[in-house]
Amino acid sequence: MSQVSDDHLFSVYARAPIEVERGEGVRLYDRSGRSFLDFVQGIATNGLGHAAPVLVEAVTRQAQKLWHVSNIFTIPDQATLADRLCADSFADQAFFTNSGTEAVECALKLARKYQSLNGHDERIDIITFAGAFHGRSYAAVTAGGYEPYLKGFGPRLPGFINVSLDDHDAIRAAAEAPTACAIMVEPVQGEGGARALTEAELRMLRDLCDANGLLLIFDEIQCGMGRTGKLWAYEHTGVQPDVMCIAKALGGGFPIGACLATRDAAAGMVVGSHGSTFGGNPLAMAVGLAAFGEISKPELLDNVNRVSGYLRQQLAGLKDAYPDMIEEVRGKGLLVGIKLKPNNREIMGLARDQGLLIAGGSDNCCRMLPPLNLTEDEAREAVSLLEKTFEAARAAAKQPA
Ligand code: PLP
Repeated sequence: MSQVSDDHLFSVYARAPIEVERGEGVRLYDRSGRSFLDFVQGIATNGLGHAAPVLVEAVTRQAQKLWHVSNIFTIPDQATLADRLCADSFADQAFFTNSGTEAVECALKLARKYQSLNGHDERIDIITFAGAFHGRSYAAVTAGGYEPYLKGFGPRLPGFINVSLDDHDAIRAAAEAPTACAIMVEPVQGEGGARALTEAELRMLRDLCDANGLLLIFDEIQCGMGRTGKLWAYEHTGVQPDVMCIAKALGGGFPIGACLATRDAAAGMVVGSHGSTFGGNPLAMAVGLAAFGEISKPELLDNVNRVSGYLRQQLAGLKDAYPDMIEEVRGKGLLVGIKLKPNNREIMGLARDQGLLIAGGSDNCCRMLPPLNLTEDEAREAVSLLEKTFEAARAAAKQPA
C-alpha cells in the first residue's frame, strides 16, 4: 500500500500503487526493493530501458559542461542531431521541443503557415482520426477528438475535423473541402489500442494530400524511433509524410521532442514564427544524440524484429491457451497490443501483482512497450507472468461474488 500522500497534487492520474525508487534495463524497483518487469517503460519512452549506461554517461558528461543556453545562441549538438535525423528520414529540417505535444503544436502551426504562405489563409482544417492521441494541449486534445479529454474545457478550437479511418467518404469530403489544410495520423495508433494502419490506408491519405494541396503529418511520437522494427514506422510502407512529430524514445526518458519537415513544408517557419526556451538545449541534445546513436544502429533494429517476432509467437500460443482472456494480438514490432476479454484495468492490476507492468489502451487493450534491447529471456519471462496473471483472473472469476 502506498505511504505517500498525493493530496497536494492535481488528481489527474489514476496512479498504480507503486512508489518507484530506481530502474535498471527492463527492471523497475519500488522503495521496498520489490522488482517489476517493466513493459511500460514510461509508455514507450525508455527505448533503451532504465538507466541505460550510454545515456547516463552522456547526461553526466554534459551536466558538468553546459546545461542550458537560449536558442538565441548556436547550439552545435542541436545542429548535429538535426543533421542525423534528417539524414535518416524524409526530412530536411527539425525544430526541437520538450515533449510530444509541443512537437504536434509545432506541426499544426507549420501546416497552417504553409497554407497561408501559399495564399490560402482559408485552409485551416486539420483532419484527424477516431482513436488518435496527439497530446494534451488545447489544440492536441481538439485534434484527438476524444470526448472525455474535451468535456468541460469549453468550445473546441476551430479547424479540426475528426473522422473514422473506415469512413473513406468522410475522409475524402474533408480532404477535398476548400478549407482543408493537412491530414495528421499515427501510422500505428498507440493509445488507441495499438492499431497499425495498412499501407493502402496511408497511401490513400498521401494521395488525397497530393491531389488537394494538403500536408501529410505523421505522429510517430510513440511508434517511431525503432519501436516497430524500422527506425520510422512509415518505412514499413512506401509512403512518406511532409511533416513528422517524434519524442518519447528520442530522449530515452529525458524530455525531448522534435518536429521534422521537408524544407518546402517548413518554408513558413521563419524568424519569430515559433520558439521555445528549453527545446533543444545542450543537456537535452547530448542525451538525444546518444539515444539516437544507439537506436539507429542496425543491430538494435534487428533485435526489435527478432525479439518481437518471438514475443508475438509466444503471445499467439497464449491466445490459443486462453481464448477466454485474449481476443487479439496486434500492433507492430515492440508496440504490442493485446485486446482482452476481461476488463483491461483488472488484468493490468493482476499482472502487477505478479510483477509485470503493462500499459492500458483504448478498445479494452493492454500494451506491452518493453525496451528495444529486450532479450528473448526477458520476453519469455513476461509471457510466463502473463500466463500466471490469466490463471489468477480465471481463479478470481470462479470465486463467488
Ligand atoms: N502523440 C502520441 C502518438 C503519443 O503517444 C503521445 C503521448 O503518449 C503524444 C502525442 C503526446 O506526447 P507528450 O505526452 O510527450 O506530450
